[in-house]
Amino acid sequence: MPQEKALSVLQNTFGYTQFRGHQGDIVQHLIEGHDALVLMPTGAGKSLCYQIPAMVRSGVGVVISPLIALMQDQVDALTELGVRAAFLNSTQDYETSRSIEQDLHSGTIDLLYVAPERLLMPRTLSLLQSLDISLFAIDEAHCVSQWGHDFRPEYIKLSVLHQLFPRTPRVALTATADAQTRAEITLRLQLEEAREFVSSFDRPNIRYTIVEKNNGRAQLLNFIKNEHAGSAGIVYCLSRKKVEETADFLNKNGINALPYHAGLDIETRAANQARFLREDNLVMTATIAFGMGIDKPNVRFVAHLDLPKSVEGYYQETGRAGRDGAPADAWMAYGLQDVVQQRRMIAESEANDEFKHTQFTKLDAMIGLCETIDCRRVHLLNYFDQASSACGNCDTCLHPPKAMDGTQLLQKLLSTVYRVKQRFATGHVIDVLRGIDSERVQQFRHDNLSTFGIGKEISEAEWRAVVRQAIAHNLLTVDFEHYNALLLTELARPVLKGERTIKLRLYQKPLKTKRSSSPY
Ligand code: ADP
Ligand code: ZN
Repeated sequence: MPQEKALSVLQNTFGYTQFRGHQGDIVQHLIEGHDALVLMPTGAGKSLCYQIPAMVRSGVGVVISPLIALMQDQVDALTELGVRAAFLNSTQDYETSRSIEQDLHSGTIDLLYVAPERLLMPRTLSLLQSLDISLFAIDEAHCVSQWGHDFRPEYIKLSVLHQLFPRTPRVALTATADAQTRAEITLRLQLEEAREFVSSFDRPNIRYTIVEKNNGRAQLLNFIKNEHAGSAGIVYCLSRKKVEETADFLNKNGINALPYHAGLDIETRAANQARFLREDNLVMTATIAFGMGIDKPNVRFVAHLDLPKSVEGYYQETGRAGRDGAPADAWMAYGLQDVVQQRRMIAESEANDEFKHTQFTKLDAMIGLCETIDCRRVHLLNYFDQASSACGNCDTCLHPPKAMDGTQLLQKLLSTVYRVKQRFATGHVIDVLRGIDSERVQQFRHDNLSTFGIGKEISEAEWRAVVRQAIAHNLLTVDFEHYNALLLTELARPVLKGERTIKLRLYQKPLKTKRSSSPY
């Protein structure tokens, strides 16, 4: 009975009493020799889904993973449990890989970890063809997606497995699961026959908070000091420079922080990562180069000082918090500059139009999450096609933002942009709205405009929030070629004519959270 065998491996080898979620069904399905696509959030227990079938079926289970740096640890952990595991990758010397090949031939290995580039070498493929293979597990399968930042070209070539080993079950696993990535995995890995196992993507212990950015670093410091003094956390920044600066800033302000980005040499990166895994009061400030496969259960917060490029990225990065199930925070500071900067990076990239279009769409979904006046979690899960109800554990649930009909404010803004002939940037447009008699206003005689001073009722900061939301709603764009001038889009017209009303998120004054004071 395969079921009994699987349960006995779970209990006797891994020491767990029962399967969690879909694990049992997936294990059964693979033992029976079928293909599967497994979508499970980080920390839910993907590994057992292929480890146990590999041990129950005859032959060696081949695990394809891009995380070369972690293979040694994974194999060590399995060996400690008495599982016969090994890995093949480029860090090994010839002697070592020779001896592993011998063990494979004599059938004394149940699980073999291999990097995709190594697997695809003709030598490795013919080695595998001479063996009895129990299954192929393709871990981090979203690496096959060209749209994600984890794209690995070799992953696309993994379709060769289906051609060379048509009878061997294959399972692809990932924690990234928007519909497009899912479809791409199925298509590129030729998993049309695979059954999909989709777990809930909710991470109820994570509290989502997105604050309006005014001084990001100071807000971050407040957040850490008030909510997470002495905790392990990750702070994501867009650029290497900002990673370094933020680490310095935190250290100067009494928070232990280390930098991590691809520009550091390998030894420093490895040392910083090792310290982060070992110590419990360290903050890693990092680019997105840091994180995939980092299995540290007690990361208490993940903070973003810059806007992620997509909701998948945000979900994946914030998902590194609270893997132990205890309360954790996903905190982000977000502002107008983020929208402008990210749109600009896409616009100015070398990519073709189709690629740019996809990137813009993904970014807009991310901006939508920042601007939503509904529950963040509902919005986030909805992006992954999962329905849910208001969570009570995100900033919009805990402190519902004031949503107001913003049509009038937007009309004032849009018509001012029109009257300054779409040639001026945000600061000046706001000056005109607020009736500020600046030098530039004088110079261009903008005090004569009919919209001069029609926006005195709200502050400059509030106007910035209105501009940001106008850009987020694609009513305005920024002309990067001409001093970041604000330009009207096609979508501005119906708002100006009063044919479309738009709700705006009102500027948030500092509030207290239940736990302690929070910086927004
Ligand atoms: P993922 O790869 O999905 O991020 P892992 O496979 O690393 O997750 O598992 C996350 C944690 O959950 C590990 O510490 C693992 O030992 C534990 N775990 C997995 N399955 C079970 C189970 N059935 N019962 C208890 N703990 C489990
Ligand atoms: Zn909520």
